[in-house]
Amino acid sequence: MGGGIGLFVVVVVVGGLYFLPSFVAAMREHHNAGAIFALNLLLGWTALGWIVCLVWAVTQVNPKTAPATSASKPPSLEPAAVRCPNCGEWMPGNAIRCLACREWVRR
Ligand SMILES: [Zn+2]
Repeated sequence: MGGGIGLFVVVVVVGGLYFLPSFVAAMREHHNAGAIFALNLLLGWTALGWIVCLVWAVTQVNPKTAPATSASKPPSLEPAAVRCPNCGEWMPGNAIRCLACREWVRR
């Protein structure tokens, strides 16, 4: 049954082409890779849906927000919390006004 191998190759090639947009999205670590895959799966059989998926996959990848700076914590977030001289509540070291008592902090 040599036809079995041929059919297998056709399925792999067609399947690979069919899910090319999802593959591209995954490789580019697209933030909408999941949505692209869903659209690819549901509308990929329509030429338009497939093209939309592919275009979507190769465009508008948002710059990574968290992972890029996850290793080193952003220094602006908590430069050593300090206590409010007025009410004693903890507040960010860079705060100029206490959130608890609304007192302006002079430095
Ligand atoms: Zn305070």
